[in-house]
Amino acid sequence: MPELPEVEVVRRGVEPLLAGARLRRVVVRAPLRWPVPERMHAQAEGGRVRSVARRGKYLLIELDGGWIIVHLGMSGSLAAVSPQTPPGRHDHVDLVFDRTTDRTTDRTTGRTTLRLHDPRRFGAVLWHSRGDGPLQSHPLLGRLGVEPFSPAFDGALLHRRTRGRRVSVKQALLGGDIVVGVGNIYCSESLFRAGIRPTTRASRIGRARYEALAEAVRQTLTEAIGRGGSSLRDFVASDGSTGYFQIDARVYGRAGQPCRACGMPIRVIRQGQRSTFYCPRCQR
Ligand SMILES: [Zn+2]
Repeated sequence: MPELPEVEVVRRGVEPLLAGARLRRVVVRAPLRWPVPERMHAQAEGGRVRSVARRGKYLLIELDGGWIIVHLGMSGSLAAVSPQTPPGRHDHVDLVFDRTTDRTTDRTTGRTTLRLHDPRRFGAVLWHSRGDGPLQSHPLLGRLGVEPFSPAFDGALLHRRTRGRRVSVKQALLGGDIVVGVGNIYCSESLFRAGIRPTTRASRIGRARYEALAEAVRQTLTEAIGRGGSSLRDFVASDGSTGYFQIDARVYGRAGQPCRACGMPIRVIRQGQRSTFYCPRCQR
């Protein structure tokens, strides 16, 4: 499943391609998780790209009339192709852009198609018109936790939002309602960096340890984005199959192998049907 670092790398790849571009048309070949809104053709087509942003795992292409919201679901990937490229079996949606560089003559100098490939079709292409109100009011975006790289994400927030919570710190972090983007692998890795046992009840962890955890989350995600950044030019060929860049895992997937810090065998347990890896000595 594409995770936050992968979507961020896609955003960085798409942004320069769409700078100054105009959406020419939207081509829908097969239904996705939710139908591509019909009004999108009238309200989005012809609009110029104002920005390419990301919120959680949603890619947000801002046009004159509103925002295209793209989610890659379980298996989606975006490719930039020439409009002449024939679509393959799982290429369900095309966003066809004209690229204009000459503002006075508005002469078209190129064309780029963003093509959504999604074998399992859990992805989504949605539209939020400016007339619908602020983008944050969209039902999919309104309930998301804070961005891990925003100033709002710190130990104080983690501390405040976990008071009275009976869940483990791992489940609190993975939930997405406090902070977005900390998927299962990144969660295990961040807790190891912070020296926190994943099974510890979230409400029992103090402010200072949460400061360390917030920093560990940022470091882990920064490393993942950095790894993905090296394949930025290839994002068009990404199959989105794992969604995780090859981070140098300290605990994840290393059950029974010696901890790189202390030599103790790494343990694996199940928490909420997900695997959790940790070092019994370094994480308390
Ligand atoms: Zn250890």
